[in-house]
Amino acid sequence: MNGGTSFTGLTGKNRFPVYVSPVTMELINTGSELLLGRVLNTHLQWLGRQLTDRGYTLKRQVAVPDGGRDIQAAVREALGRADFIITTGGLGPTSDDLTRELIAGLLGRALHHDATVEHAIRHYFESRGRPVPARTKVEAQVPEGARVLPNRQGTAPGLVLVVDPNPFRPDGRRSVLVMLPGPPRELRPMFTQEVVPVLTEYFPPAEPFACRTLRTTGLGESFIEERIDGPLAPLVQSGMDLGYCAKVGEVEVRFVARGPQAVTTVATAEAITRGLIGEFIFGTDDDTLEGAVLQRFTQQKQTLALAESCTGGHIANRLTNVPGASAVLLAGYVTYANEAKIRTLGVRPETLRDHGAVSEATAREMAEGARRISGADWAVAVTGIAGPDGGTPEKPVGTVFLAWAGPHGTTSARQLNPFDRETFKFLTAQQGLHGLLTAPTARP
Ligand code: ATP
Repeated sequence: MNGGTSFTGLTGKNRFPVYVSPVTMELINTGSELLLGRVLNTHLQWLGRQLTDRGYTLKRQVAVPDGGRDIQAAVREALGRADFIITTGGLGPTSDDLTRELIAGLLGRALHHDATVEHAIRHYFESRGRPVPARTKVEAQVPEGARVLPNRQGTAPGLVLVVDPNPFRPDGRRSVLVMLPGPPRELRPMFTQEVVPVLTEYFPPAEPFACRTLRTTGLGESFIEERIDGPLAPLVQSGMDLGYCAKVGEVEVRFVARGPQAVTTVATAEAITRGLIGEFIFGTDDDTLEGAVLQRFTQQKQTLALAESCTGGHIANRLTNVPGASAVLLAGYVTYANEAKIRTLGVRPETLRDHGAVSEATAREMAEGARRISGADWAVAVTGIAGPDGGTPEKPVGTVFLAWAGPHGTTSARQLNPFDRETFKFLTAQQGLHGLLTAPTARP
């Protein structure tokens, strides 16, 4: 599956194509909290993905504690090798936020006060009716020659320094250094809106590049591979890269192509794949399953209710993370006890007695009850055995019954998700949400 000449290999089970970008890029994540295990380094994953999707790749990443020597050593080393360096964190106003000062010091650039930056910071606080902290002045310090990247979600601006000539490279070749703030909600829009134009300005792609990730659920990686590998083989042979990444309850299929035909090649691969496994594709790139469900329901002006037993509100949580959920989701019922299923959802005591709380019959009555009581067009219900106790030979731990009630009737399914409770809940939610996209009664 490694078709393109620029791709060097596939690794392991999560075998995403690994290609070498001609621009050497390095990432330095600062913050002792990352090394102490207090904060997950999501910048590595997010930035790595953003760069890859644009045809660039990270060559190296390092996390360093807040502290002068480590940050300076890491930046000095990276400047000795890389064309494009991103640092994250340490731009804030507190005493351990030293990245700006340390890098300016390393490069012998004086810091000066930038009135426009200070004005923007003041405006940030004043527009929120909050007093301006005295130390925010620190964030208005800008190294000589730096380009300022506005921070629309916070206070500390990003900074771009072009190191040319670069004293740390034997040949003095230019490096571009970008400093980004630590909080993800500040870093992400700043990267997309401000850094990407800088990147393409200094390192324009050598040739057209196209990339597409299709996000699927409900079909295992090897089944997907079985269905699409053959039909996509001609494109792969002509240089397109095809990769799969299996995650919990989801498989990503990714196409990458370079050259004049890149866009057409990727579009053709997408069309072929949709033709073969379309019902399992819920979105592309950064789409989510819950987002896809809500989009579909919004478009169809349909409403939804949930009856959750074993997922404890997880489906409701995921749906309500999506803006606009309230236009679709009328109610979510979390009913664990039999009594709650009877009183809240109208499940019949005989059903529970004859079939048990974890049964197809109960799931169907839960869904139908949720739909009736809420007045929603649709309802999905889940009931299962999360474990570790409670399993039987007929219904082992991990057994789940799901039901989808809609205007044209009710459908149901049985699944087995024998995993830890968190994974069990996520997978069950995936199945419930996916059913809302694919159940025959859910079709427009
Ligand atoms: P602030 O103004 O908030 O101090 P800063 O630019 O100085 O911003 P840091 O203090 O280094 O950034 O980090 C702020 C917060 O951002 C951290 O406490 C952490 O929650 C989050 N953060 C920092 N680095 C990362 C990272 N690599 N991955 C995920 N979150 C991070």
